[in-house]
Amino acid sequence: MNYISTRDKLSIRTASQAILEGISPEGGLFVPEEIPRLSEEELSALCAKDYCARAEAVLQKYLTDFTADEIASCVRRAYTGGKFENDLPAPLSKLDEGTYLLELWHGPTCAFKDMALQLLPHLLAMSARKNGVKDRIDILVATSGDTGKAALEGFADAPGTGILVFYPVDGVSEMQKLQMRTQEGDNVFVCAIEGNFDDAQTGVKALFTDAALRERMARAHQRFSSANSINWGRLLPQIVYYVSAYCDLIQNEELALGDEIDVVVPTGNFGNILAAYYAKRMGVPIRKLVCASNRNNVLSDFMATGVYDRNRSFYPSVSPSMDILISSNLERLLFELCGRDTAKVRELMESLRTSGRYEITREMADALHQDFAGGYCDDRRTLEVIREVYERYSYLLDTHTAVACAVFDGYVKEREGDVPAVIVSTASPYKFSGSVCEALGIVPQGEDIFAPSDALLEKTGCPIPEPLRRLRGRKPRFDKVCRREEMLGALEEWLGL
Ligand SMILES: *Cc1c(COP(=O)(O)O)cnc(C)c1O
Repeated sequence: MNYISTRDKLSIRTASQAILEGISPEGGLFVPEEIPRLSEEELSALCAKDYCARAEAVLQKYLTDFTADEIASCVRRAYTGGKFENDLPAPLSKLDEGTYLLELWHGPTCAFKDMALQLLPHLLAMSARKNGVKDRIDILVATSGDTGKAALEGFADAPGTGILVFYPVDGVSEMQKLQMRTQEGDNVFVCAIEGNFDDAQTGVKALFTDAALRERMARAHQRFSSANSINWGRLLPQIVYYVSAYCDLIQNEELALGDEIDVVVPTGNFGNILAAYYAKRMGVPIRKLVCASNRNNVLSDFMATGVYDRNRSFYPSVSPSMDILISSNLERLLFELCGRDTAKVRELMESLRTSGRYEITREMADALHQDFAGGYCDDRRTLEVIREVYERYSYLLDTHTAVACAVFDGYVKEREGDVPAVIVSTASPYKFSGSVCEALGIVPQGEDIFAPSDALLEKTGCPIPEPLRRLRGRKPRFDKVCRREEMLGALEEWLGL
């Protein structure tokens, strides 16, 4: 099966080429030529299998130029060997009758981006080999916090690669900063950018499309690739955990095969929820995909009005990984909503580029509402929900998952009929322990950045994940802060161009 660009159907790639290139030359995103199906028999057979076997089955449908052995080798290296707590990458936790949390933060950086970024380096290395690429591949990342660290962990010392991460100095938590600034590995570069996530992302996009830079790199046998969620190799691993969660519900006899579920996803760049959409299209019985936003509610407004408008204030929130005004992956959904009309996608994206907004057609909006619902909540409500859920269930939510729980609360009141819901839990509460303490009315003692974690541990007894415990006392290796115009220079210096 091949891949095509959302902006040009004649831009055709194999799976490995799509992963290697990251983004299509005309700016479109690669999508599978058709969305493969998982039959009820196949789904049923996966229920008794472990996460790796489920991942292999899903990946085989999309990576048709990889052998089964190659896929198995990538999957096993990503998800076994203690990378994830108890070798269980995506456990389900039952909150209440019919309400489950899909915990995607048991990996090396305690946020859900590990699910994809532990696998991507292996897919990329395999893709390079298949295409005879001997250049060093430099992964360029703009991060609102969690992607950066997860990419650093995934690519650190991966042969034939470099990993360069730019993060907004005002847009990530102290703990996230420390995680990135202490990253080990000889092939890593970490730099802070003055501004917010969109500034960092715009800067990175400019580097990607800089033809002169690309040429200088080619002469030095280097090339860029992306680990941002626009890369198909990032999205694909995320489809797996929706299939896996459904299988777990069957296996635990919470559901019968074929029963529908709702899925609630705390959303930023639209990657995670888009993976759920692909899972649905493959045949996982998902009824509605509920898109939860924080106060930067450009997506829930889009769901409600059919107008995407980024001309609005940007609010740094207590859920910083969702502080995004341009959700890049939405383009892949638009492509499906308009019946795969590349001219329409180009028109909408051009409108976004020139005026910061676009409006979808009535037909597209109808198609959208078939599958999606949306909602948002502000910081005050986010913290209130952390407190409510802790008091009622003794379950500690992080600030992103709490947004999903808050939106789910509102959605439950208006949805038709009751089906079980899987709420996607995207980070350990200890990654955002300052805000979680505030929610619970805990006042940490002292200024140390570990004080909130210690206070939270003392009050709740919930264990601090090992990767965060290990950070204590580590000295930062990276302290560079630069303006957007200085990114090119910093990068060239590090690449030795
Ligand atoms: C990245 C991230 C999100 C948003 O996911 P998208 O795929 O960008 O929509 C939500 N929560 C956490 C903790 C994240 O790191």
